[in-house]
Amino acid sequence: MRNKIVAGNWKMHKTLTESQALITEIRGIVRDEFRANTAEVVVCPTSLVLASAVKLMEGSGIFVGSQNVHQENQGAYTGEISASMIASVGASHVIVGHSERRQYFNETNSACSLKNKSSVAAGLTVLYCVGETLEEREAEQHWSVIEKQIEEGLTGITSEEMHKIVIAYEPVWAIGTGKTASSAQAQEVHAFIRSLLNKKFGEPVAEATRILYGGSVKPDNAAELFAQPDIDGGLIGGASLKARDFFEIVKAAG
Ligand code: PEP
Repeated sequence: MRNKIVAGNWKMHKTLTESQALITEIRGIVRDEFRANTAEVVVCPTSLVLASAVKLMEGSGIFVGSQNVHQENQGAYTGEISASMIASVGASHVIVGHSERRQYFNETNSACSLKNKSSVAAGLTVLYCVGETLEEREAEQHWSVIEKQIEEGLTGITSEEMHKIVIAYEPVWAIGTGKTASSAQAQEVHAFIRSLLNKKFGEPVAEATRILYGGSVKPDNAAELFAQPDIDGGLIGGASLKARDFFEIVKAAG
């Protein structure tokens, strides 16, 4: 039985004070309504507020993650942050390979594999994003694109390390567009990803690995998506900026 995860990606939104206000609101909802919740809940604010978010979330049971990481542990990489720095402030998760990083910052599968490796070495749980663009889907290339992202992005990760890796399937055409993959479309790809993990790491690892869906998940479509056998929660963008919507989605994960 895989424990579901719901992670909020705040992207480049919210100043320090705004982030603190959102965290306080989230904490209030957790305290009053969600004590029995079993899903793993993660928020990923801007890296500037990671340390403060960890402190504010203390005792809430909610995890804090980074939206990005550099593959090296330290060095002359102006403006970057390493996995050990993220871990040092008490954050526990990190998003790697988000399509916006792939699109705007040329993040490649091989860069992702190095980031995945260094994040796991620092003890972080990785939310590794894969997914096809609209053109790739229309050309029926999504299977090969995703296979490559899994194969290359997880190079060097051992079966033993896979418990620290969560896959997030995020069709690029569904991110921030209001277009969600149908639950059947998403399930089909999730099952495919699980079969790739089976080939690469064997059945026990494939069965234990959580695979999240991301792309315009909202309170009104979350339950149907999360009810699919191979969908183990969600990576949530826009809706994670509204505490109430985010927790309606968490509630849908059980
Ligand atoms: C995301 O950025 O990972 C995402 C899924 O965004 P949205 O929910 O806004 O589509």
